[in-house]
Amino acid sequence: MKSKSQASVGARERIFEGLPVGAGVAIGVVYRHDSRAVVQVRERKIPANKVRTEQHRVLEAAHEAGGRMEALQLQAKRMSGPAGEELGYILEAYQQMLSGSRLVRGVQKRIATERINAEAAVMKEIGLMAEAFAAMEDQYLAARMADIREVGRRLVESLGKEVEMGFENLPANAVIVADELSPADTALLDPKRTAGLVTMLGGVESHTAIVARSLGLPAVVAARDILAEAQSGETIIVDGGTGHVILDPTPATLDKYRRKRAGYVKSQQSLKKLKTVPAVTRDGFRIHLQANIELPGDVDLALAAGAEGVGLFRSEFMFMNRPDMPSEKEQFAELSAVVKKMAGRPVTIRTLDVGADKLGDGLGMKPGPNPALGLRAIRFSLSRRKVMLIQLSAILRASAYGPVRILLPMVCIVEEVRQVRRMLTRLIAQLKRRGVKIADPPPPLGVMIEIPGAALAADALAAEADFFAIGTNDLTQYTLAIDRTDEQVAYLYNPLHPAVLRLIQFSAEAALAARIPVSVCGEMAGDERMTPILLGFGITELSMSSTSLPRVKKRILELNLSAISGRVRRITSESDPARVRAIVEELAKAG
Ligand code: PEP
Ligand code: MG
Repeated sequence: MKSKSQASVGARERIFEGLPVGAGVAIGVVYRHDSRAVVQVRERKIPANKVRTEQHRVLEAAHEAGGRMEALQLQAKRMSGPAGEELGYILEAYQQMLSGSRLVRGVQKRIATERINAEAAVMKEIGLMAEAFAAMEDQYLAARMADIREVGRRLVESLGKEVEMGFENLPANAVIVADELSPADTALLDPKRTAGLVTMLGGVESHTAIVARSLGLPAVVAARDILAEAQSGETIIVDGGTGHVILDPTPATLDKYRRKRAGYVKSQQSLKKLKTVPAVTRDGFRIHLQANIELPGDVDLALAAGAEGVGLFRSEFMFMNRPDMPSEKEQFAELSAVVKKMAGRPVTIRTLDVGADKLGDGLGMKPGPNPALGLRAIRFSLSRRKVMLIQLSAILRASAYGPVRILLPMVCIVEEVRQVRRMLTRLIAQLKRRGVKIADPPPPLGVMIEIPGAALAADALAAEADFFAIGTNDLTQYTLAIDRTDEQVAYLYNPLHPAVLRLIQFSAEAALAARIPVSVCGEMAGDERMTPILLGFGITELSMSSTSLPRVKKRILELNLSAISGRVRRITSESDPARVRAIVEELAKAG
């Protein structure tokens, strides 16, 4: 996937190609983040008179870690057979690395030259050594990278580790360059201090990519080998529209991208003028555009973009980056704040959608053999009724402050909806008895259509649910058996596959026949090239990241729906993905 080329002889400019995730251009400085490093440490500058103290700390820590290694070696010797022997060799190698070796010398030198604390110097030196090993032709030596990291971890532990939380030490205008970022990591990013991000792994519809889009960060995923090249502090350009990443650009390249960035900023500003304009097609069809949010704070962006409601609140993000579970009181405080801020606009709160790449640290989840197909989302909630009841209770209480809808993720069978309805009925009665204020009538209960089986049984689900939200991200993943986070198969991830389009159409028709509202809240809703198709299927509610909303609105204002409906109908009778794409291209240009 990556194509790297030297732009001109003698120049240091290096170009990488990845998958584009978030529109816009970032020009900033590289901040390397290694998620595979077992510890993240806080880097801190030290005064000249503290250099010797830090160097001494390293020697002591190396001595202590070496001592522990020796004890382990003795234990290994008592083990019988080749395992003990192998372990003995590894531990001996660790010990050598810790005793007056290149590692310790390198760390000491770094403390003196860079004037940084011992922990940060260790991690930097380890990073450098690990890369040198990884680049070795010899497979055995390359695999020693993990050992080097392990030694680093032990050394930092002996130093008493100054562990970093999140990205609190980002330099101004930082572009985070990482092997991969979890959705939880990404949620910690402060867009005011982060210019963009680039990862070596990941797919365009992974939750990490989705969060980057929501934050309005130019981002590129699947930029292979970027970490082997990018050095912290180096100038970097990230083009979130094309997937290009450029390290140490020449003045001409910088100039080109500065102009491109200015053009993007200008077009965003002109789109802002549409904030209060209703989304109506040229032939008078009114479409409702809502925002997807991950954290309560995102609601400000939603309002700034002119969202008519929150079509998807991914509540699981409130459960990330903390060792415990948020209490009912905390959940209620956060949810009611969102409902109040939306001031009468509907807020669709999805119950916990944990599992696969989204983990709630305080939930004690045990990943099964295949987490994407395992005990996740509604299945997890129904298996942990107390967790579910706390969440439902917080949602019901928040419903006293404005229109709220409850949305269930990854529903597979009607019985799941029935179970939740029974829980809700009992809970509502209890809350009322206790005199707790909740909305009357209580919030509607909807289901996400994101499993192919649910889409094909949409008529049955429509008889049980009060509304549908079609999750095209997972619907594509499960229909095509493509892990949405895996860059190796990202070329096959295609929401325009005839199978996916047919499932969307079938679900929309089932909802329309049952006269229940239906929206699309997957990333497809935020792609203006898809707008004619979704509207042509009879969908009048779209929910997307706030940054995509103005572009989609602009497209709706240009569109004459009646004139394209025949071509949209034709699309689901096509079985050839190439033909489908051709029709989509044609529709994308249609006025
Ligand atoms: C989806 O699957 O399309 C969806 C909206 O949910 P999420 O992206 O959170 O899985
Ligand atoms: Mg989903």
